Amino acid sequence: MSEHTLTVAGVTVDARHWIGGERVASTDTFVDVSPIDGSVLGEIARGTATEASAAVAAARAAFPGWAATPRAERARILHAVADAVEKRIEDLSIVETHDNGALLRSHRRGVMPRVAHNFRFFADWLLRLGHDDFTTYTSGSAAGRGHTNHVSWDPAGPCVLITPWNAPLMLATWKIAPALAAGNTVILKPAEWSPLTASLFADIAAEAGLPAGVLNVVQGYGGEAGGALVSHPDVRRISFTGSVPTAKTIAAAAAANLVPASFELGGKSPLLVFADADLDLAVDLAVEQYDNAGQVCLAATRILVEETIAQEFTRRFTEKASALRQGDPRDEATDIGPNIHPRQLEKIDGFVQRALAAGARAVIGGHRGEGQCYAPTLLTDVAQDSEIVQEEVFGPVLTLQTFADEDEAVRLANDTRFGLAATVATGDRERAERVTDRLVAGTVWVNCFFVRDLQAPFGGSRHSGVGREGGTWSFDFYCDLKNTVTSPKGWRDHG
Ligand code: NAP
Repeated sequence: MSEHTLTVAGVTVDARHWIGGERVASTDTFVDVSPIDGSVLGEIARGTATEASAAVAAARAAFPGWAATPRAERARILHAVADAVEKRIEDLSIVETHDNGALLRSHRRGVMPRVAHNFRFFADWLLRLGHDDFTTYTSGSAAGRGHTNHVSWDPAGPCVLITPWNAPLMLATWKIAPALAAGNTVILKPAEWSPLTASLFADIAAEAGLPAGVLNVVQGYGGEAGGALVSHPDVRRISFTGSVPTAKTIAAAAAANLVPASFELGGKSPLLVFADADLDLAVDLAVEQYDNAGQVCLAATRILVEETIAQEFTRRFTEKASALRQGDPRDEATDIGPNIHPRQLEKIDGFVQRALAAGARAVIGGHRGEGQCYAPTLLTDVAQDSEIVQEEVFGPVLTLQTFADEDEAVRLANDTRFGLAATVATGDRERAERVTDRLVAGTVWVNCFFVRDLQAPFGGSRHSGVGREGGTWSFDFYCDLKNTVTSPKGWRDHG
């Protein structure tokens, strides 16, 4: 075991960078702390421009070989990666829970199996991806007729992937899997607050047969390691999930090198509850927004309820939400774990205290909980233009507003700078159609929440993002489309 090896509840993780199929140390390190109890998990290599350049060089060197690997072979290797992840679900779950505080049972049963699925899905999609061939018939001149057009999806080159801490490996593999399937090589920079599963995953993928240099991981701080990666001139794509301010910085770096970039950003999504809804279902949907301690980009944190049922909705919601058990994310019985970091807790409390000072009323919560937890909070008496209604808190904090009719519901729902998702609870199909047509959001759920099929486009409108991921949309982003036009003339074999 090297001095860089950490042990997290019996699982060993190498905390150095993974570059060109080798572990690489840095001169400096940073400390990774568990949100469960504040214990130090270990020292992580702190990447700089030097490691960023080395990782891009390794990705460049590996690119021609991986790009030329036949699709069927790339797909086979990605399925082998999925198999290997499935064998290590327990280890990955343990490490992720200690690193970011999300529930162990969710990692075991939902998140890590889904990580494996991400590789299977894009491996299979790759094999179905179109090679479109057609014969020219509208070229504008008779000379062009009969020429064949062949559209191919060429891999773009080294891709930089930058990811946040709230669902680290899940979000990273939504990017890694399609980027690799398309024939690209990648450099991943995970968030500094939850870097461990990226490192463990690099070992798992290598053991499964992913060639050296195809996947590289650079650990470190956003502005330092991340900044060096996104501004590197040899990078061909940047895919980012995180906050709006960071996205603007990365967009400027991408623009300087004319590199296509995609952005999955934050939200302030609404849950619209109409009087004709199944009320128990609507209450369940609202309580679900506390999952992952509210650290979910898609969370419907603005509950909009039709006036006539607001009182009964609030009563049932309060009863249900008050029964949630907050505590150690390793316990099966826990519903809500800690928030990621003391700084995040402070940020959440700042939002809540400013809202209370401005006249909001806490129906439940409104204060910190035990340890690094924040008490599940529901605030009423909030103004539409207030900070608490307009800004993403990223904690277990919901607001409740009422509406008189459909028009007002839609107006309130659309009235923020975001447009990531929206959820509608109604028993009336015609209303569902009318309302969903008018909502500005990348994803709209009707009488459900958080159902995501990778075949569907995923992303946000307005300040919630640029671009879409999923199915063919991912390949659109990670490929350079090329059209080859071939004449029927000029062949020696005349054939
Ligand atoms: P963040 O502060 O923007 O950080 C995201 C990533 O960017 C981290 O790896 C960070 O590194 C890195 N970074 C920071 N500055 C950088 C720079 N100048 N150049 C390159 N990389 C840089 O976001 P976060 O607080 O980790 O994540 C929470 C946000 O993500 C929320 O807004 C949430 O809504 C959003 N999110 C969106 C989705 C979606 O799919 N739409 C999904 C999940 C989360 P460090 O960790 O070292 O700072």
